[in-house]
Amino acid sequence: MKQKKQSEIGTLLGYAGKYKRLTFLGLFLSAAAMIMNMIPFICIWLAVRDLIKAAPNWSEAENIGTYGWMAFAFSFGGIIVYFCALMCTHLAAFRTASNIRKQGVARLMKTPLGFFDSNGSGLLRNRLDGGAAETETLLAHNLADIVGTAAMFIGMLVLMFVFDWRMGAACLLAAVISVAAMFTMMGGKNAKLMMEYQQAQDLMSKAGTEYVRGIPVVKVFQQTVYSFKAFKAAIENYSNEAEKYTVGVCRVPQSVNLTCTEGVFVFLVPAVLMLAPSALSDGNFADFITNFAFYAVFSAIVSTALARIMFASSGMMLAKTALARIDTVMNAPTLEAAEDPQSPKHNGVEFKDVTFTYEGAELPALDHVSFKVLPGQTAALVGPSGGGKTTAASLIPRFWDVTSGSVEVGGVSVKNIDPHVLMDKVAFVFQNTRLFKTSILENVRAARPDASREEALAALHAAQCDDIIEKLPKGIDTLIGSEGTYLSGGEQQRVALARAILKNAPIIVLDEATAFADPENEALIQKALKTLTEGRTVIMIAHRLSTVVGADKIIVLDNGRITEEGTHAELASGGGLYERMWKEYNQAINWKISSVKEGA
Ligand code: ADP
Ligand code: MG
Repeated sequence: MKQKKQSEIGTLLGYAGKYKRLTFLGLFLSAAAMIMNMIPFICIWLAVRDLIKAAPNWSEAENIGTYGWMAFAFSFGGIIVYFCALMCTHLAAFRTASNIRKQGVARLMKTPLGFFDSNGSGLLRNRLDGGAAETETLLAHNLADIVGTAAMFIGMLVLMFVFDWRMGAACLLAAVISVAAMFTMMGGKNAKLMMEYQQAQDLMSKAGTEYVRGIPVVKVFQQTVYSFKAFKAAIENYSNEAEKYTVGVCRVPQSVNLTCTEGVFVFLVPAVLMLAPSALSDGNFADFITNFAFYAVFSAIVSTALARIMFASSGMMLAKTALARIDTVMNAPTLEAAEDPQSPKHNGVEFKDVTFTYEGAELPALDHVSFKVLPGQTAALVGPSGGGKTTAASLIPRFWDVTSGSVEVGGVSVKNIDPHVLMDKVAFVFQNTRLFKTSILENVRAARPDASREEALAALHAAQCDDIIEKLPKGIDTLIGSEGTYLSGGEQQRVALARAILKNAPIIVLDEATAFADPENEALIQKALKTLTEGRTVIMIAHRLSTVVGADKIIVLDNGRITEEGTHAELASGGGLYERMWKEYNQAINWKISSVKEGA
C-alpha cells in the first residue's frame, strides 16, 4: 500500500517537471517550520524547570525572559517559514496542474475523433480539468502537512529521550492509534469502496452535464420523466455509495480518530497519575512536574498535526482517484502516426476487406466489407438502421481505425497518410454537426483558418446561407449560441456545408441530414450539397432514396455486410433488399401525396 502511494506522488511529481525541486524545497521548509514550532514548548519546559528550581525565590530564575523571547522568535519564525513553504508548494502545484491539463489536451489532440462519441465532453472535461484541480490540494497543502507531521513524529521520538519517555509514549500512543484509524478508512477493501464512491460522483457529474445540455431536447419532446431517469438514478446511486462509505466504513474509525486527535491528554493524564507515586518516592518530583507541564502543553501541537494529517489523507485519496481519472485521458487511444507517410495518388476511396468491431462490442459493425469508389464518382451507402453506414463513413477520416483489412484513399492506406494530409483530402459533414460558440465567420473558417473573409463569404453564399446572415444582427460576425442567437438544425447544417465548401477537399463524406430539415431548408440544403459535391468524390449516406437515384454506385449495407452493389437501375429490380426499400419508399411518397390531396 505504501509503495503504491509513493508511486502516485511520483506520478504527480512527474507532471511537475522542473517544478519538482520547488516542491521539495516547500516540503523541507514545512518540516523545518514544524521543528521550529516545537521549540517554544521546550522553552516553556526550561522556564518551568527554572521556576520550580528557584521557588519560592522567583527572582533567581533569571533566564525566564530570554526563554520567553526565544519562544516568541521561534513561533513567529515557524509561521514565516511555513508561509514560505506553502508559497513554494502552491507555485509548484499550480504549474503541475497546468502541465497535466496541457499534456491531457495534447493527448486528446492525437486521439481518434470517434473516442469523443463514447466519452462525452462533459466527462472528459471533468476528468482532466477537475482531476487536475483536485491534485492541487494534495501538492499545495497536504503533502507539506504530511511531511510536517512526519517531522513532528521524529521530533517527538527525540524529545522522548530528552524528557520523560513514558509521558512521551502516552502522547505517541494517541497519535499512533489515530493514524491507524485513518488508515483503516483508506486501506484494503475500503479503498475499493472509496473508489466506488468517487466513481458515483463522477457519474452524477456526467449525468448532470448531459441533463442540462439536453434540456432543449427535453422541452421540445416533453420527455421529462424519461430524461429525469438517468440523472435521478445517478443521484440515488451516489447517495447509496456515500452512505455505504460513510456509515459502513468511516463511522467507527473516524470516531476513534477524532477522540485520539482531540484528546491526547486523555492518554497523558492516566499515565501521569500512575507514574506520580513512584516519582514522589524517588524524590525528583520537581522534574516530574516539569515534564508533565511540557507534555500537557505539547499535546496541543499533536492535535493540530494529527488534524492536518487527516485532511492530508483525504487529500491523498482524492488525488488518487483524480489521478486515476486523469489517467483515462492520458491513456486515451491515439492514432498511430505513419512512420513513413505516403501521399494519396488520386481521389478514389477503396475499402479492402474491412472488418471493424467497436470496443466492447461482440459483433463486428462492419464484416469483411470491400468496395471501390473511383475518383469523381458518387457512391451512396444505404440500408437499414444499424447496418454500419455511419461506421463505414467514419473509418475514412480515421475516426476509428479498422480492426482488419484497410481503408485506402488515393491507393494508400489511411494509416500511412499523414493525418494533416488526410484531413485536407477529406471533408465530412455528419448529422450531428455542432457549431462552435463563436462567430459564423470563425465557424466557417475552422475548415481553413487562413481563408480570407471574402472566401468565407463566398462559401456561405454557395451553401445558400445568405438568408441566415441577413437576419442576424451582426451578419457573419454574430456569435452563435450566445446573446440569444441560435440557428435551427437545418440552418446549422447549411453553415456546416459552407465549412466543407470552404475546405475545398476533393473527397466528401456526407451523412445526409434529414432529421432537422423543414421543406424550405431541405431545398436549400440540396442546392448547397450540389455545389459541394460537384466534380468531387462523394461517399454519402442517404436516408431518402430519391437522392441516390443518380449515384454512380449504390452499396447496400445490412448487418455490417454488403448485400448488394450496383446502380439504381440495376438494384431497383434486383429482387433484393434495395428493391423492397425502393417500393416502400415510393409507397410512402404516394401515401404522403394522396394524404395531401385528400386534405386539400
Ligand atoms: P447505421 O449508420 O447504418 O445506422 P451504424 O454504423 O451507426 O449504423 O452502427 C452499426 C453498428 O455499430 C450498430 O450495431 C451500432 O449499434 C454499433 N455502433 C455504432 N456506433 C457505436 C459506438 N460508438 N460504439 C459501439 N457500437 C456502436
Ligand atoms: Mg447512421
